[in-house]
Amino acid sequence: MTDYFWYRVAKYIDSNLPENISLYTFDKNTYQLLLEGYQEEKVEKLTEHFSEFLNYPLNISGIPIYLKTRLGCAFYPEHGKYGEEIMQRSFVAMEKAREKGLSHLCYQESLTEKSKENFLLLGEVKEALEEGEFVLYYQPKYDLLTGKIFGVEGLIRWNHPQKGLMTPDKFIPEMENTDLINLLTYWVLERALIDYKDWQENGINISISINISTHNLHHYRFLNEVDRIMAKYATCSPKIELEITETDIMMENGILSKLLERGFSISIDDFGTGYSSLAYLKYLPVDIIKIDKSFIGNIVEDSSDKEIVKAVIQMGHALGKKVLAEGVETEGSLELLKEMGCDYIQGYYISRPVPKEKIYEIISLYS
Ligand code: C2E
Ligand code: CA
Ligand code: CA
Repeated sequence: MTDYFWYRVAKYIDSNLPENISLYTFDKNTYQLLLEGYQEEKVEKLTEHFSEFLNYPLNISGIPIYLKTRLGCAFYPEHGKYGEEIMQRSFVAMEKAREKGLSHLCYQESLTEKSKENFLLLGEVKEALEEGEFVLYYQPKYDLLTGKIFGVEGLIRWNHPQKGLMTPDKFIPEMENTDLINLLTYWVLERALIDYKDWQENGINISISINISTHNLHHYRFLNEVDRIMAKYATCSPKIELEITETDIMMENGILSKLLERGFSISIDDFGTGYSSLAYLKYLPVDIIKIDKSFIGNIVEDSSDKEIVKAVIQMGHALGKKVLAEGVETEGSLELLKEMGCDYIQGYYISRPVPKEKIYEIISLYS
């Protein structure tokens, strides 16, 4: 879909809104409405009005286009004290509406009993960033040809004063629906650059990769912020790789080429879990394909996993890309992957993600 199409959709929605409701674009195909002074019953009525006008086809260049929409609502202060919390909860309601096949749904506690605790954490992120509670761990990447560590992947941890060291599954998914993920990614990039510089000064030449979320790629300030941070470390010409999932790469909006122009390399993360076809790889400006760990865990025993991985390695090489297997936990899988011609591996067999200081030790173990 083109930007023009989404622009027309936004225009159409905006022109049908009552005066005291403002429209914001969140992502290309996600919009936010700010309703001031509305009670729940009134919102019920309004959503009916929305569903009605959204059911009409949009006429673009003479072609009628039908929109499929879902609305999710959340209220201040019942559902959160912070903007991020309200946004997050409206997303939950929208997702639930989609699951249940409804046109709209208002947030209720019962929708998310499970992740309630995780939502509450959102309100603490900014302070945690200021207080230095986040830590970037690193997992080594091993070159099957040379037997050496050639790089590391930065993986975030939150050293929470009450909850202890938390892995990203406890907070990243919630953050990804809010602008907080941008702040976190900027923090991760800067942390990686500081560590890169430090390693370089100590004679350790390794590349660092960081994980990028879809919301980063679609945020209008992302490139500016990245440029601002990179400029501070230009003297050490850092080699930074960006890990982006297959689905996000397919949805990208031209930002990848701008990142490549800036000297970043790009790898496809969790390859095999999205919907892209192998043939599509040809068109993607990526250097490394990271095969998802779900194909690697049982590779020695599972013949179909083995065949899939073999095919990805062959296809990747035919297209001039390097292939990395994630989640290697045993010597047997390492040997098999080596035999198959896989370039790199990452996984508990080599090392779990560790604090920066431990990386020296691991590198010397493999040198
Ligand atoms: P990912 O990018 O696919 O990272 C790999 C995950 O697999 C890591 O989990 C790592 O600890 C785990 N792993 C590594 N080797 C093995 C193995 O041999 N066996 C098994 N079972 N697991 C292994 P972690 O650190 O909990 O991170 C989970 C996810 O959180 C990451 O998946 C990534 O999507 C996200 N994440 C982590 N750090 C960041 C970050 O700084 N920014 C963003 N946006 N996302 C992040
Ligand atoms: Ca990754
Ligand atoms: Ca991965």
